[in-house]
Amino acid sequence: MVSDADIPPASAPRFPEPMIDLSSDRHFMAEALRQAQRAFRAEEVPIGAVIVHEGRIIARAFNQVELLHDATAHAEMLALTQAQSTLGDWRLTDCDLYVTKEPCPMCAGAIVHCRIRRVIFGCPDAKGGAAGGWINLLQSGVLNHQAAITSDVLGEDCLALLRSFFSEARSKAKAARESADGE
Ligand SMILES: [Zn+2]
Repeated sequence: MVSDADIPPASAPRFPEPMIDLSSDRHFMAEALRQAQRAFRAEEVPIGAVIVHEGRIIARAFNQVELLHDATAHAEMLALTQAQSTLGDWRLTDCDLYVTKEPCPMCAGAIVHCRIRRVIFGCPDAKGGAAGGWINLLQSGVLNHQAAITSDVLGEDCLALLRSFFSEARSKAKAARESADGE
């Protein structure tokens, strides 16, 4: 017998919001940051990504544009390909993607195509970010899927790594110019 007490009040959400556990967000972002550090050591722009399915990391990747001579080899793109191959499905409906920097429009488009559930990023990118920094492709009403967004998880650490990469790159370029001038 179903009694009135079993029927939730009309105002109760039918599907509760997914629980966002900030401590595990930080845990997985730290993994993405480790990938970004690998990129740094490989002299790539230090951005890393991991994809989590049912509490388990199923893909880890770092930016490899220079290594692969491929402008599309962003950390997110490589991680999406890995996750699809691990699950044997292009639909990553129950997966969350952690990336150290706000995704660009190319990656945001791919994330929507793969139907990622939630995107968690470290530092924002006001100039080129496609998760609300410049535009929000992850939650566009025009596309057939929207991903939830959590921003600024270990954001300062992610930004510090990018800053030290670019400042190192600038001083290397300056040193190269000076030695060329001296010849
Ligand atoms: Zn990208």
